[in-house]
Amino acid sequence: MGEVKRHPERGSSQRDVISGILSEGLVAHVGIIDSQGAPVVIPMAYALDGDSILVHGSVASRLMRNQGPICVTVTLLDGLVVARSLFNSSMNYRSVVVTGVPEVLDGEERERALLVLSDFLLPGRVGNAREPSRPEIRQTTVWRLSLENASAKIRTGPPKEDPASDYELPFWGGVVPVRTVFGPAESDGAGANVPIPDHIQRLAEEAGLGVAPEVGG
Ligand SMILES: Cc1cc2nc3c(=O)[nH]c(=O)nc-3n(C[C@H](O)[C@H](O)[C@H](O)COP(=O)(O)OP(=O)(O)OC[C@H]3O[C@@H](n4cnc5c(N)ncnc54)[C@H](O)[C@@H]3O)c2cc1C
Repeated sequence: MGEVKRHPERGSSQRDVISGILSEGLVAHVGIIDSQGAPVVIPMAYALDGDSILVHGSVASRLMRNQGPICVTVTLLDGLVVARSLFNSSMNYRSVVVTGVPEVLDGEERERALLVLSDFLLPGRVGNAREPSRPEIRQTTVWRLSLENASAKIRTGPPKEDPASDYELPFWGGVVPVRTVFGPAESDGAGANVPIPDHIQRLAEEAGLGVAPEVGG
């Protein structure tokens, strides 16, 4: 299990905390050591699947040809913490770091994982799109990384002024919340005139945003 060294009180290795954070994110930063020994960190989509994370990419990509250990980081930014001093200003966040050697999935496991990935990113996708063909599946590498070696770190709440006398300064202190929200879906106007499906329409409605005007004819 990874261990949070600075501000350990913000750390957690509890599986439900880790899963809760991972279930809210969409983008992971995946770190590898490339064949020249240089570190590379690449943004990727991911899915939480039980006790593991799934990522996928082209069989041709340098990233997916990597065979060693990887590090996957997911960050949810919740707010800018504005202290009365620049030094004590911070961010509210929930983040997870997972390390290990991923398992390369094959056969039915790979097919299932690709569907899980699609449905995790946008629940309801499977059943509302053509599923991948055999050649498409063959072009895609899928990794499963266990959450066995995972840690979470969380910061919440207002700024902590230190020294406490900073509270007396004539400056504002507080938190500016940051949210990621879905906007109204924008049809591409191509193909059959299919209405925006419920599972997509719902996303913006849940965020309190309306419906985008239909594009094209
Ligand atoms: C939000 C998001 C989600 C993504 N999801 C996926 C996914 O699920 N699967 C997937 O395969 N790819 C995904 N990508 C693309 C991914 O980041 C890589 O660009 C892609 O995997 C190509 O990898 P590669 O091994 O061919 O590139 P490399 O050969 O490793 O890249 C060569 C160089 O190109 C530059 N580079 C590569 N990618 C990026 C980048 N994204 N931004 C800036 N510079 C870059 C770097 O300097 C890198 O060293 C996503 C990108 C973003 C931003």
